[in-house]
Amino acid sequence: MKRVLIIGGGLAACTVARDLTYAGIEACIVERNSSIGGKVRNYGCKATGDCLNCGLCTAATLWDCVEKNEKIQKICNATVTDIVRKDGLFLADILSGGISETHMFSDIVLASGFRDIYGSTVFQPGVIGGIAMERLLKDRREGELFDSAPSSVALLLCSGSRTIKDQAPWCSRFCCGFSGRTARVIKHVYPECKVDLYYTDYQETHPEYCMEKLREQGINLVKCRARCEGSEDGRPVVTWDEADGCKSAVYDRVVLINGIVPGENNRAFAELTDLKQNSDGFLEYVKEPEITGVYLAGTVKGPMGVNETYRDAAYTAVRIIEAYKKEASN
Ligand SMILES: Cc1cc2nc3c(=O)[nH]c(=O)nc-3n(C[C@H](O)[C@H](O)[C@H](O)COP(=O)(O)OP(=O)(O)OC[C@H]3O[C@@H](n4cnc5c(N)ncnc54)[C@H](O)[C@@H]3O)c2cc1C
Ligand code: SF4
Ligand code: SF4
Repeated sequence: MKRVLIIGGGLAACTVARDLTYAGIEACIVERNSSIGGKVRNYGCKATGDCLNCGLCTAATLWDCVEKNEKIQKICNATVTDIVRKDGLFLADILSGGISETHMFSDIVLASGFRDIYGSTVFQPGVIGGIAMERLLKDRREGELFDSAPSSVALLLCSGSRTIKDQAPWCSRFCCGFSGRTARVIKHVYPECKVDLYYTDYQETHPEYCMEKLREQGINLVKCRARCEGSEDGRPVVTWDEADGCKSAVYDRVVLINGIVPGENNRAFAELTDLKQNSDGFLEYVKEPEITGVYLAGTVKGPMGVNETYRDAAYTAVRIIEAYKKEASN
């Protein structure tokens, strides 16, 4: 029996599922939200007339392809509550609409992604997290991004990242690029708006070139660890420390650029399967997945942008396909 359970329905999951079916292997996606696509499906294009290579086009046709593919079963609004092994197969309990059913699979792919640290946070007026900013970019209309034209916007990079206090000391690597592109879109839509980008260090392949491009467009780069604290006349205040004391500035809008942190179910998944959490809380293999039948794909393993997630998931699919071929030839 060749039927693969994929937990999660985001970019990584959909890529694995699609590629498996190209090799004649059935897949079943279990997604806890009401539709497939994960976070990326609600992200927006960052073109400013020219494409700024945000990576989203990588997934442009993926959702449609998965939705129409009859070899991929999609169970949304659902979770996997238990997994047991029996006679070399996996029996997974899938809870959907209050009903739990046991399904049988040959292999499992964990593609449950990362946690949006600002998901349900209610900020003071004028302040939003990175994924909410993506939603605005998606809903963008000609000459319009926010509900009213701002005269000043601050982007605070490494929000909740690269700090031991927040238990997220790593760099997510893609979010400097995301911030730079977002700043350029804001400046493109509102040329008169003051756009300030507060960064700790700029993680791009050619940082000096990218920063020069931002400056050319009139975006100010401020190297410091800034925070958003309090408000003045209902507008958010950004503060940061300099050698001669604490500085502050008031903005119409503040965007807190969050990175990638481990998913909330990683511990439970590690306990249910032959996996372990690394010191940061992401999942990793204990034994080769070809031996255990449990594979990983995408940001459940660590920070990745869209292109890296896509490549990682495609490679996971190749490993499964190759393992089946080997099994069939024995
Ligand atoms: C603010 C922000 C902006 C970004 N912008 C960009 C960008 O412009 N360009 C770029 O290259 N990258 C960007 N990224 C990175 C991008 O979001 C990731 O590369 C991508 O989402 C990874 O896809 P994934 O499938 O691994 O995870 P996810 O998108 O997190 O998908 C995981 C899926 O699994 C589901 N799930 C989770 N747990 C369970 C469970 N227990 N049971 C069932 N389903 C479950 C979730 O609901 C979700 O649908 C951005 C990230 C952030 C935080
Ligand atoms: S979605 Fe991203 S990659 Fe695609 S055109 Fe827009 S900026 Fe370019
Ligand atoms: S990529 Fe940039 S914004 Fe993201 S964590 Fe690293 S330094 Fe901070």
